[in-house]
Amino acid sequence: MGLVKCSDCGREISARALFCPGCGAPREAEQASPPSERKSKTVVPVMGIIAVGLGLASMAMPYFAAVFFVPATFICGIIALRQGHRILGKISIALAFLGLITIVFVSQQIGDPQQVLEGLLDKLRSLR
Ligand SMILES: [Zn+2]
Repeated sequence: MGLVKCSDCGREISARALFCPGCGAPREAEQASPPSERKSKTVVPVMGIIAVGLGLASMAMPYFAAVFFVPATFICGIIALRQGHRILGKISIALAFLGLITIVFVSQQIGDPQQVLEGLLDKLRSLR
């Protein structure tokens, strides 16, 4: 770690030291705060944003694309949760579940592809 100068005696001391070993003067509270604490606040929740984005995209996607988007949303949501982005993680997992319900619902509506084709052909015939 880096060295800093004591504000009282000018002696070089460890940046992590709370007191100057030379004169015993306390280091300024601002400097003494651990740098890791500042870092965690400014970390961009990339995975969380991706997860929520994927979740929202899967809502707008057609059925066949949502099948791929929903698991991706779920995985990204789990990663976001593990990185400590709880709110974004929970939102994306909720979106993944919503997407899953939508997929199940849509697949039941579509039913057998052959029946869908025959239904379309019947409609075309009735138009003539
Ligand atoms: Zn000192």
